[in-house]
Amino acid sequence: MRIVLLGAPGAGKGTQAGILSKRLNIPHISTGDIFRANIQKGTELGLKAKEFIDRGKLVPDDLTVSIVKDRLLKDDCQRGFILDGFPRTIPQAESLDNELSGLGIKLDAVINLEVPDEVIVRRMQGRRVCARCGKPYHVLTLKPKQEGICDVCGGPLIVRDDDKEETVRERLRVYYKNTEPLTGYYESKGILYNFDGTKDIEVTTGEIMSKLEQITGKTG
Ligand code: AMP
Repeated sequence: MRIVLLGAPGAGKGTQAGILSKRLNIPHISTGDIFRANIQKGTELGLKAKEFIDRGKLVPDDLTVSIVKDRLLKDDCQRGFILDGFPRTIPQAESLDNELSGLGIKLDAVINLEVPDEVIVRRMQGRRVCARCGKPYHVLTLKPKQEGICDVCGGPLIVRDDDKEETVRERLRVYYKNTEPLTGYYESKGILYNFDGTKDIEVTTGEIMSKLEQITGKTG
């Protein structure tokens, strides 16, 4: 299946994408994770992206689109993929459509996680992320087995620089201005599915999985 996860920062996209990727056995592609890995390695892309990310702004479309295009051409995307945090603007969505139609494929579903702003700001305050593999955690709702250590790779858990309250508010503003219009874009294509992202993680995963089963049943 070819899936896009939409939602405000902190809506749970990364968490759900990680779970769905394992269940469906398709790669989880997070542009945020790709940027952070590049920042950590000190690459040219990382240096460019950091300037925007630290201020809660979007990385320019041309830079973002080209890394996603390269990633989608990798062999592991043949069976499908889950895009998390991309597209974030209408031009990115149009580029994605063009790229996919050039490959003779299209998106099966766009999963939109809906969470009110106050819940998001509260969630971000407890958010931690593995500095090595990017797996997300939360100090109250998604604790690691051992405090401060990633369950998967043993890496250290850190607070993302852009999770400071002021930056979160800017990211929300950017979300409403640039990304939220994508719900209308995908709704008009008939592939938008909305979910209540305030429920327990497993409950939301269950609801998404049943919807995806329904869709694959429908499309064969
Ligand atoms: P995320 O981990 O998805 O919250 O992304 C962290 C930051 O990376 C965002 O606040 C943006 O600055 C940047 N970023 C991630 N994905 C995109 C995208 N599709 N377009 C532009 N900037 C992005």
